[in-house]
Order: sequence, then C-alpha cells, then structure tokens
Amino acid sequence: MTITAAAPAPAVGLAMLDGLVGDLQAVRARIAVLQAQEAELFAHAVTVIGVREEECSGQPAAGHGSQLAVREVHAELAAGLRLSEYTVARRVNTARTLFDRFPATGDALTVGRIDPAHADAIVDAGSDLDDTRRAVFEQAALELAGTETPARLRGLLGDLVTRLDPTGTEQRVQDAASRRRVWVKDLEPGLACLGITAPTAHIHGIYDRLTQIATDLHTQNTTDAETPADAGEPADTRTIGQLRADVATDLLLTGAPTGHGTDDDDRTRLGQLRGVVHLEMPATTLTGQTAGGAILPGHGPIDTDTARTLAADAPTWTRLFRDPATGVPTCVDTYRPTQTQRRLLRARDTRCRFPGCRRPARGCDIDHTIARADGGPTALHNLAHLCRRHHTLKHDTAWTVEQLPGGILRWTSPTGRTHHDHPPGTVRFTPTPPDPPPF
Ligand SMILES: [Zn+2]
Repeated sequence: MTITAAAPAPAVGLAMLDGLVGDLQAVRARIAVLQAQEAELFAHAVTVIGVREEECSGQPAAGHGSQLAVREVHAELAAGLRLSEYTVARRVNTARTLFDRFPATGDALTVGRIDPAHADAIVDAGSDLDDTRRAVFEQAALELAGTETPARLRGLLGDLVTRLDPTGTEQRVQDAASRRRVWVKDLEPGLACLGITAPTAHIHGIYDRLTQIATDLHTQNTTDAETPADAGEPADTRTIGQLRADVATDLLLTGAPTGHGTDDDDRTRLGQLRGVVHLEMPATTLTGQTAGGAILPGHGPIDTDTARTLAADAPTWTRLFRDPATGVPTCVDTYRPTQTQRRLLRARDTRCRFPGCRRPARGCDIDHTIARADGGPTALHNLAHLCRRHHTLKHDTAWTVEQLPGGILRWTSPTGRTHHDHPPGTVRFTPTPPDPPPF
C-alpha cells in the first residue's frame, strides 16, 4: 500500500490576485501609450506656435514678439482642456524636451515600457547634462526605471547626475536656489496651505526649529497638566503637528522680519507692515444673531470667532448687498461713485475673469469689455477685472469677450470655441421664507 500526499487545494485567491496584477499591468501599459501620444501632441504645440508667429508677424501687435503667439496657443489649449496655462506650458516644455533630448525615454514611453511619471523624473533630472553625459545618464536611468517607483527613481537619478557631473552640481544648486518662492493653496473649507521653497539647509533648519519649539511646549504642557497646582485648568491637548503649525503661524504673523539686506530702518518699516485679508460676513453673524457664513472672497469659509475678531479690529467696513437668488453683488454703501464701482466690481469678480485664471482681483486691471473708444460705458455691466497677461491677450490676439447679464463673461477663442466665466461664489439656493411665528 502506498500513501500519496494530497495535492494542495488550488489557491483561488492567489490566482485572482495574479490575474489582477496582470490585468492592471496591461491597462497601465495601454494608458502609458495613450499618454505618450498626448505628450507628442503637446510637443507639437511648439510647431503651431512657430507657424502662428510667422502668420502674425505682419500684424500691428507683432511688437510683443513671440510671447504673444505662445500666450495665444497656451490660452486656447488651457481653455479647451480646462487646465491652467501654467500646466499647459509645463506639459509643452516637458514633452518637447522629452522627444528632442531623451529619444530612448520617449520610445520606452510610447511602447508602454515606462510610466509618464518615470519619464518626467528622467527629463527633470537629466536635462542640464551635456550630450555625452546625457546619453550615459539616459541608458542607466531607463534600466533603473524598469525596477524602481518614480519617487525612488528621482532620488537615485539625483545621485547619478552628481556622479556624472560633479562640477555642474554646484551650478545646479545655485540655479535651484534662484527659483525660491512662496505660494498659497486653498485646501478645503477652513484650511489653506502656505508653501515655501528655499535652499535645502534653510528649510530643514526652519522645520527643525519649529519641531524644537513645539516639542518644548508639548513637554511643558504635559508637565503642567501633572502639577497639582494646575489641576482643574483646561489641558492644552494640541499635538506636536498642531503646535508646529501654530508656532510657524505666530512667527510669520507677528515676528520681526529680518530678511537679508535690510538695515535697521528697513526692519522697523517692514515690522510695521501687516498682512491684509478681505473678509465678507453677514451682518447677523457679525452681531452674533447667526453663526457661520464668514468667507474670504475667492478662498472659502473661515470660522465665525476669527471673522468677528478681524472685523472688530478693521479700520473701515463696507456694506455689501447681494441679490439673494443669484448672489451677485448689487450695491455697496459709499459716497464716491468710482470707489463704489471698484469695490462692487472687486466683490463680484474677486479674481481675473479669463477662463481658468485665479489671479486675485487686487493685482488686476479693470478692463472695459467694450472699449471706451468704441462707446463702451464705464458701468458695471461693461467692466471686469483682467490680469495684465489676459488684458494683453484680449487686446492683441483674436480672443473676444462679451458681458452677459449677471456679470457672466462669454469668451470666444481664436478658433471659435466659446467659454463662459461666471462671477465666483454666485451659486445660490433660492431662499425660502421662514416659517410664520407660532403665535
Ligand atoms: Zn488672468
């Protein structure tokens, strides 16, 4: 008699998982092929810009040079694809660099062997290398891309570039520092993000200092909570992360600015500057009859207590009346007509009124939709905020705009596509009358 071991039952789950991995790999490869085609089309935009430059060179606006053709093409693509012009410009440049200077990477993307994120990492890391070093770099980078995630690939490619071109790294570090900047991004109702890019050592130094102060406060809070004398006091339960954010906010809002290159006089003057925020809140919220409803126009809601505190310290208020159905501002309290129009217009527009543009109205021009020279009146229904870039685009390219009731702008692009830009924050529910009092 012989005993044979029973064969293990087929692992159904593992077979399913195996199939899932294979299917996803196949789909991602197909997506990569399509994204390569998209990149080729973005790269083609450079050719289109060249043709438009030649076509426009005989026109009066040619004094603005090639920038005008670039803006015209980018604006048309951005409006048509509902992307920002910044994103379009980045995709055009990356695509052109990819196919011109990294042909093997372009090929690998076209056949779905690597992801677009891998291709971006290769182009970003290697585009400053000379032809000889770039060829060596690209070959090694493509081998790594076959096994690494895009995030890990970026780190490895940085090391690779430093090894291939140690002296050039010094220059790249200096060039990178020249791109330092600060930006703001609204995240969700009640929360926004401040981003700072600066030399690596400074940023890590800032983060470390914030961590030290936050940790110190956290330890102090824990000790205080255990002290019998403080029993019954409300405990400070903020996490290290929250404390870090609070300390950074305090330092930026109230700390003395000691930027390099400022003498004592400058520092005193800079120290007197305070950030300004424009706040909109219902009168009933201000007086405490209702809660909520305070917003920073163009950025979203903020909490009622902060809004009341800011309003109490504000030197002047402007009363603003809105149409309850559409939300379009209809009137403000003021005695000077031009100021009235400016305030009302700023309250209505809050930003540049070109499709997709988010530049705040504060830095924009007030444009006559129909030019004054053509009989356009200086009236709200013929005025709109446009940033300098889109003001120029409107005047010097074939983009046209007309103003519809409710402050809606209907733009027509050079290729004849129409795009509607609505005044921000005008989506409203029609108010229903309150229930009659029960007496
Ligand atoms: Zn704009």
